[in-house]
Amino acid sequence: MKASTVRSVNCPSCGKAVEWTPESRYRPFCSERCKLIDLGAWATESFRLRAEETELNEEDLRSLGH
Ligand SMILES: [Zn+2]
Repeated sequence: MKASTVRSVNCPSCGKAVEWTPESRYRPFCSERCKLIDLGAWATESFRLRAEETELNEEDLRSLGH
């Protein structure tokens, strides 16, 4: 390990140390899986926000209907 020349970052998805080198092609993620997980989290979050808006509207409709 050449710690003095190789910088490392923590994977945003799992927190694992990732060497910041051309070989770490998914940096700052440790693997393609973690990269996809993180992208999926963003997509899920945006979907969740839309779903919450929909649920609120449905609740409003229900309260109006009953
Ligand atoms: Zn990871």
